[in-house]
Amino acid sequence: MNLRPLSFEFFPTRTEESRRKLAITRKQLRQYNPAFFSCTYGAGGTTREGTLQTITDIMTEGLTAAPHLACVGASQEEMTEILQDYQNMGIRHIVALRGDIPSGVGSGSRGLRYANELVSLIKETFGNAFHIEVAAYPEFHPQARSAEDDINHFVRKCKAGADSAITQYFFNTDSYFRFVDDVQSRGVNIPIIPGIMPIASFSKLARFSETCGAEIPRWLRLKLQSYADDTASIKALGLDVVTEMCSRLLQNGAPSLHFYTLNQAGLVSTICQRLGY
Ligand code: FAD
Repeated sequence: MNLRPLSFEFFPTRTEESRRKLAITRKQLRQYNPAFFSCTYGAGGTTREGTLQTITDIMTEGLTAAPHLACVGASQEEMTEILQDYQNMGIRHIVALRGDIPSGVGSGSRGLRYANELVSLIKETFGNAFHIEVAAYPEFHPQARSAEDDINHFVRKCKAGADSAITQYFFNTDSYFRFVDDVQSRGVNIPIIPGIMPIASFSKLARFSETCGAEIPRWLRLKLQSYADDTASIKALGLDVVTEMCSRLLQNGAPSLHFYTLNQAGLVSTICQRLGY
């Protein structure tokens, strides 16, 4: 099989103990020579320090880091200041997002509202200093008014200067390939990297999928549900399904794979090994 580059996503840790565990996770995953390790950012700046710390830890180990940056509710000055710090640290790769306003926090009238505005700000202020990654939704963003509207917004975001995109996770490869065809027919030819979610727990996956708009196919949902709290069977089925999906994606031209690790190496590592990495 044609093995393409990998990347791994983390979220910022809150305690010294979880920070130590994440260092072990990184050690396990670096054997796959990832193109980069990314770290999420809480919209509204809620994890500004934590994201910076995780990114610094990654760089201290000589690895390539890609911080996420979410612009909603933030001013242009705040975003520019963070980006300037990242540039000074030697960071060359950013995942540029809108983010979701935490509940109870008003969106306010400050600055940036959509990811395309953040992409434009990065380009105007920093030129080509950063490789800009944006988010893509093969099954469409949950707030999209229509599929067509969502694709048009995605195309605009790419044309503002995105270099590549990472998708929300999905379990149906048709949605991914259809999305790639749709945006390519509108003149967008940047790499669109499938975001891969390993399956560790049905209840968590179902809850998260509900909010982010990712569909769990009926057959998979019913099978996972039938295992109740038998986590070994859930993980075994999840490994088969996700590995097979990755294999199909790579065989049919996906440029790379990006894993949502949830800060754990186990399942991701097994999938990579089964794929031949
Ligand atoms: P946008 O591209 O701005 O789109 C948001 C919605 O607005 C869509 O419905 C779109 O159709 C619509 N829209 C877009 N542009 C316009 C416009 N100009 N006018 C009107 N409507 C418009 N969230 C975090 O908080 N932190 C993270 O670190 C993080 N990492 C992520 C990584 C990946 C790979 C993915 C796929 C998602 C991530 N998210 C993260 C979640 C993401 O922030 C949410 O899905 C958010 O709701 C949308 O962000 P976006 O950048 O895709 O937004």
